[in-house]
Amino acid sequence: MGSRASSLLREEEIEDIKKETGFSHSQITRLYSRFTSLDKGENGTLSREDFQRIPELAINPLGDRIINAFFPEKSTEAVAGLILGAYQECHALHSLFSEDQVNFRGFMRTLAHFRPIEDSDKNKDPRVPEPLNSRNNKLLFAFRLYDLDKDDKISREELLQVLRMMVGVNISDEQLGSIADRTIQEADQDGDSSISFTEFQKVLEKVDVEQKMSIRFLH
Ligand code: CA
Ligand code: CA
Repeated sequence: MGSRASSLLREEEIEDIKKETGFSHSQITRLYSRFTSLDKGENGTLSREDFQRIPELAINPLGDRIINAFFPEKSTEAVAGLILGAYQECHALHSLFSEDQVNFRGFMRTLAHFRPIEDSDKNKDPRVPEPLNSRNNKLLFAFRLYDLDKDDKISREELLQVLRMMVGVNISDEQLGSIADRTIQEADQDGDSSISFTEFQKVLEKVDVEQKMSIRFLH
């Protein structure tokens, strides 16, 4: 992939991204120039280091977690393929490496979770999948920032890790521990001492997630 060839966004590509993410044409082209300015390697993809140069993320205590969210999950199929030798090695290796880079499409897909909900996002055909910026998808995005081991539950330890990132050094481990315990106690309905996505949704029922998890993108 030459840097020149990838520096142009094709019209069909813009249309596809529009459909998938709900961003407008001008938002997509504006975000594309932001994307290319971050792409120091000029290879059409961003690395973690590229993201770390975004000032808003650098100062965000959860910045690293948010950056992680841009990178596709480790493809278990590719890993299994490597181990079993079931796949052609180069194919598996390629899938493994590609997760360290995110292309513009993937970048937009993640950003789409932060798009404010607009009237045009509502009353959609039920056969069409929920837009990425729906309340549910925003919640799921937040849930995954906590659920590091991706077992679909937030454990006490995972909650503690996030709390530690978010509060300063003035709070003792004991105090944090009791905040985590209390949070889990309040959220946990099935008694497994961890928070499932359903329990997470319930706890945040009255919170204006739509507002809190939206970034105003210029039109
Ligand atoms: Ca977990
Ligand atoms: Ca539970």
